[in-house]
Amino acid sequence: MTKTDELLRQLEDSIPEYIKSIGSFQCRNDAWTLTGHYTTKRLLSCQICGHTPIIDVYVIKSTRGQKLNVGNVCINNIVKQKIGRWFKQHLAKKVFIKKYRPMIDVVDMIITHYENGTLPIPISELGIERLRKMLQRMSGGVKPLDKTVKLALYYVEKLGSTRA
Ligand SMILES: [Zn+2]
Repeated sequence: MTKTDELLRQLEDSIPEYIKSIGSFQCRNDAWTLTGHYTTKRLLSCQICGHTPIIDVYVIKSTRGQKLNVGNVCINNIVKQKIGRWFKQHLAKKVFIKKYRPMIDVVDMIITHYENGTLPIPISELGIERLRKMLQRMSGGVKPLDKTVKLALYYVEKLGSTRA
């Protein structure tokens, strides 16, 4: 499993954990829980306020077994938390990690080889430290600094020339 696969799996796992952390909330004289979230292109309406279409769909279930599809405005209001923002950030992180997949995996590979003593090129402690910070940043969905990207590409190029 690559670093990116690992990060994407962690992201997936964080959804049920987050949903669980929300717990139950009151609506229409009943207690409800969030059971799922998805995005859709189908024409769906919020079953609380009637707003159409809702792209972000939150499925809530009552203790009596009733299920409702709710839009992001209503879910925030009912739960009194910025649920929509969490899922928006979650999606942004996923898109970012997929976009930066080659960079994340190559930097992770360099660091792993360095730690195992199997890196065929010399890299200073400082250089590795910068790569570690870069990896940490990208893992959190934050764009790496241009100068660290340049540094990483420089190492990649050097690695490539040792294989030729
Ligand atoms: Zn609504």
